[in-house]
Amino acid sequence: MARDDKATRSRTGRSPIRTCLATVVRSVEVTPRMLRLTLGGDELRTFDGGRQADERVKLFFPAQGERIPVLPEFGPEGLVYPDDATPPHARNYTVRRFDPAGPELDIDFVIHGDGRAVEWARDARPGDVLGIAGPAAGSLPPADADLLLIAGDETALPAVASILERLAPGTCAHVFIEVADRFEEQPLAAAPDTDVRIQWLHRDTAVDADDDQLADAVCEFPWPDGTVHAWVAGEALTVRTIRRYLCNERGLNKHTLHAAGYWRRGKTVEEWLNDPQDTDA
Ligand SMILES: Cc1cc2nc3c(=O)[nH]c(=O)nc-3n(C[C@H](O)[C@H](O)[C@H](O)COP(=O)(O)OP(=O)(O)OC[C@H]3O[C@@H](n4cnc5c(N)ncnc54)[C@H](O)[C@@H]3O)c2cc1C
Repeated sequence: MARDDKATRSRTGRSPIRTCLATVVRSVEVTPRMLRLTLGGDELRTFDGGRQADERVKLFFPAQGERIPVLPEFGPEGLVYPDDATPPHARNYTVRRFDPAGPELDIDFVIHGDGRAVEWARDARPGDVLGIAGPAAGSLPPADADLLLIAGDETALPAVASILERLAPGTCAHVFIEVADRFEEQPLAAAPDTDVRIQWLHRDTAVDADDDQLADAVCEFPWPDGTVHAWVAGEALTVRTIRRYLCNERGLNKHTLHAAGYWRRGKTVEEWLNDPQDTDA
């Protein structure tokens, strides 16, 4: 058995996680740049998800010209593939919705340009097959803060939506979401008895194309009295800027801040995670 690369292992964790194959049931355009694939199939009956906020899965895509991806097993050292197998393209995605009755699993794909995952999703038709490992629970800061500050780009939207739907009563949250333009906004429903303010940021209205609107918005946010916890996800360099600000200027720490780079501008996930100069994101 051959071990997979650092990228795949480091983002999945080492606990035993189930893998299964799923088939595309339908594909729906949520916004011009967000595609929802609904997955089904008998093997999804073993999928143990849909109960928590911010659950993530690793998706395994079939190689070019193949119909079914090679699936790994989980060993103590991470994912393991049969010796003669080429590890498939694998990427992390968020569980947007899971209905065990179907079973049906919704994954929202940002249609971002090139990338094997996004190309596969764009071309996917009912009956196409992909592999799934998970779910793994994401990290949320403890709920006992006066304010939950959430910041993310469109890749974080599925997670943000699931977090808002499951907020504890009495939670106050301020949410910054950066998307390409106003057509990428989505309705976000918050749990009852919560106080949630959502601020959309549009890249197409930035004064300077190089502006980091999301980081600027967080850094300029009038800091409230009381305790603030934060959840941040999106482009890795933006997340790094925000994380440094929240830790260095506002005193948040690993217990009160969850910050995760979801993708890295100009690099594939492998190029990003295998670059020792680029690990602090
Ligand atoms: C825990 C977690 C949960 C995630 N959940 C989701 C989710 O629910 N939905 C979702 O769409 N993504 C999500 N992502 C992000 C997704 O895994 C990445 O965008 C991934 O790089 C896509 O793989 P790819 O094969 O299409 O592109 P890659 O092969 O990784 O990259 C190819 C090129 O595309 C660029 N690129 C990658 N992503 C983007 C982007 N979003 N915008 C612009 N350029 C990009 C890269 O910089 C690179 O130049 C999540 C990531 C993590 C870690």
